[in-house]
This record gives sequence, structure tokens and C-alpha cells, in this order.
Amino acid sequence: MNFDARNIPKIELHVHLDTCISYHCARMLMPSLNLRMFRTQFIAPEKCNDLGDFLSRITPQLDLLQTTCALRQAVDDIFDQLHADGVIYAELRFAPLLHLNQNLTAEQVVETVLGAMQARSQIYGIEANLILCTLRHFSAQQSLETARLVARYLGKGVVALDLAADEARYSLENHIKAFEYVRSHGGDCIAHAGEARGFASVNETLDNLNVSRIGHGVRSVEDRATLDRLLRDNIHLEVCPGCNIVCNIYPSIAEHPVNTLFHKGISLSINTDARTVANTTLNEEYQRLHHIFGWKDEEFLTCNLNAVRASFALPRVKQRLEKILRCQTLLDKHDVV
Ligand SMILES: [Zn+2]
Repeated sequence: MNFDARNIPKIELHVHLDTCISYHCARMLMPSLNLRMFRTQFIAPEKCNDLGDFLSRITPQLDLLQTTCALRQAVDDIFDQLHADGVIYAELRFAPLLHLNQNLTAEQVVETVLGAMQARSQIYGIEANLILCTLRHFSAQQSLETARLVARYLGKGVVALDLAADEARYSLENHIKAFEYVRSHGGDCIAHAGEARGFASVNETLDNLNVSRIGHGVRSVEDRATLDRLLRDNIHLEVCPGCNIVCNIYPSIAEHPVNTLFHKGISLSINTDARTVANTTLNEEYQRLHHIFGWKDEEFLTCNLNAVRASFALPRVKQRLEKILRCQTLLDKHDVV
């Protein structure tokens, strides 16, 4: 039987609201946009020079997302994409402080996104939570402001603080207090690391930010002790293979360490990260891993079960998601028999 990624129910833990606007949604927000402009301004080249080059493609999307109406449309748009990918649970993320250019308050931004997420969740039956990002180049003050927003909306759809953006150019220094603040208020913490910089960045992040998950973290594969640490402390890696190729971290999927990490027993999930910028979908990510590494239902089930365990969903939601994932795989097997 041919493998078809569309048949697999999926968990997506790492996807940015402000890097995933479809052409259709972008056109609604900016009627003068044409496909050629969209391709050159919103989508990164197949190989970027570095992460900074990749991040520069996000600016046009941020420019569009400065009103409550635009934020709602972006949420609707990403849920359409999650639905098309067979996602049953998602953790969306974005940096609220990047949406204040037209006089929205940070609270209005978060409440608009949460309201739209809750409405779309009901329509599609996709469970979803929200992660707020602080950014590497933010000041300590901005980071703390983001941490306060996390604390304020805990239990109302916001579950964690994340640190995103360019790890190669900016240190962790400004953000340590913000992470402590969220922890002290009962929130969870995650961070991007080990993509543009190597395994030392993963260790530094684990040492300083007390995170349970690492966005990417794929360069941990370069160091045995780091891998042992991830295994020992059950740190989950949110792996986004296609994005790593576009960012030129690895030349091709065949040379990406996702298969090695998986077979070493690291808890990891498969994600898109920046759907529009990296020009990908979750179905395409799964299909590529099947094509290159021969992954089938079993490997994807393991990843998705690990994603549920590492997620910030409520325990009863986790139980339900596990059941759906296992049932679906059994049903597929039954079809084969
Ligand atoms: Zn990311």
C-alpha cells in the first residue's frame, strides 16, 4: 500500500503564526499583491545564506499583521492549513510585541489571537494552545513584558514562553529573568537553539533557561554528551527539517540528522516552523521523511506520541489525543489486512 502522509493524524508543536500566511490570505490583506511579489518577498530562496537572511523574509508578513482584523484572518488561515495537514493538536506561537505598530496594545493582540483560535478550534475540532515568543534581539525589558503577558494569560489559552530569532548573533543574557518570571508563575518555557549555532547553544540554553523543549536542537547530534543529556532529562526536540534545509543548516534532507536522532531514542516531533517562508506543509515534511528515510506509520506514531507527551495540553486532552493517534494507526493496519 502506498504511503500517504495525509492519512496520518498529526501533532504540530512548532509553527509561527506570523510566518505562515498563505497567498490567498496575503491578497485579502493587501489586494495589490500579485503572485510574483508574494514569491519574492514572502518566500525565502531554496537556500538562504544564514538564519538572518531567512528571518528577513518575515518582515512583509509582520507588516500585514498590525490590526485585529488581520490577526484574526491569519489565525483562520493557519487553521485552514492545519486542517488540510490532518493536525489534531497544535501549539501556535508568535511575538505579540511585533504587532504594535498601529497602536494595538499587547493585550489586544493576545486576546484577538486567542479569541480567533478558540473560534477556529471549535469549527475544525483542532485543539490548540498559544506560546508567546520573546526574541533574541529584544531588551531585558521587552522580554520581561512578554513574560508578564504569558503569566497574565496562563489558563486562558497561553501555555508557555519561547525564545526565538537569531541565536548566532544575540546571547541569552537579556532573557534569563523573563524565563525565571514565567517559571515562578507556573508557566512552561521552551527556546530555539542548536540550529544556527551548534550543541554548545543547546547546553547553554538548558543551563540558563530551564526549558523542557528545544526548538530545532538538531545540532545536538554533534556531541555525545549533549545527546546523553537530552535523553537523561527527557528534553524534547521540535524538529523542522524543511526549514533547516532552506536555512542552509544541512545541504539536503538526506544529510539531515532527524533519522539519527530518532534512532538514538531522542524524543522529537516533526514540524513546519515557517510554512510560507520555507514554502512547506506538514504533509510535505512527512512525505519527504518517508521518501528519504523510509519512515512509515510506526515512526510517525512514535513522533506524535512523543509530541503529545511534550505538549502543554491538559492531561485529559493528552489522553484523548493519544487515543486518536493509536486508533488511527490501528485502523490503517486493519485496512492493509
Ligand atoms: Zn521557529
